Amino acid sequence: MTIKELIERLMLQLLILKLQLQVKFLRQKLTIPNLPKPKYVVVHHGGGDYSFEQANKHHKDKWGFISSLGFGLGYQKWIKYGGYVIIARRDNEEGAHTADPQRPHYWNKNSVGICLRGNTNNNPPTEWQLRALKEELDEYKRKGYIVKAHRNIVATSCPGNHLYQWLKDNKYII
Ligand SMILES: [Zn+2]
Repeated sequence: MTIKELIERLMLQLLILKLQLQVKFLRQKLTIPNLPKPKYVVVHHGGGDYSFEQANKHHKDKWGFISSLGFGLGYQKWIKYGGYVIIARRDNEEGAHTADPQRPHYWNKNSVGICLRGNTNNNPPTEWQLRALKEELDEYKRKGYIVKAHRNIVATSCPGNHLYQWLKDNKYII
């Protein structure tokens, strides 16, 4: 093989690599914050003792949606046991948290999903989580959003009995 042929072969390999990278980039499903203002807030529980990192990875592996903030988590917000709120998606960015079979995309395009870590069928949310949730919900209500529990939309035990009762007791839902 001459030097010229070797260079040509290398150039070809570089071109292939470049095209492969482009395809990989195009395949990444990115969501962008471009929806009209959502109307609802849907409250969820984690359904288990999953950490933010575990839930984020699980959703990323399941749907492959990456938010404009770089997360795979389907909820817009995640509340840790200590009350710390992680913002995973913008409010006007499509989520992946509430799928009504009759209207598969409606809720994910028109609501903000807030999830509390833990299974609140088994244990009540922590005082810190409820304090953070109250702040969030009061702020959304002030802006005109309507609060819903996941189970009010589709057949699910989410957001767990303890959290569901708290939402009722505090008049966020009827
Ligand atoms: Zn839920």
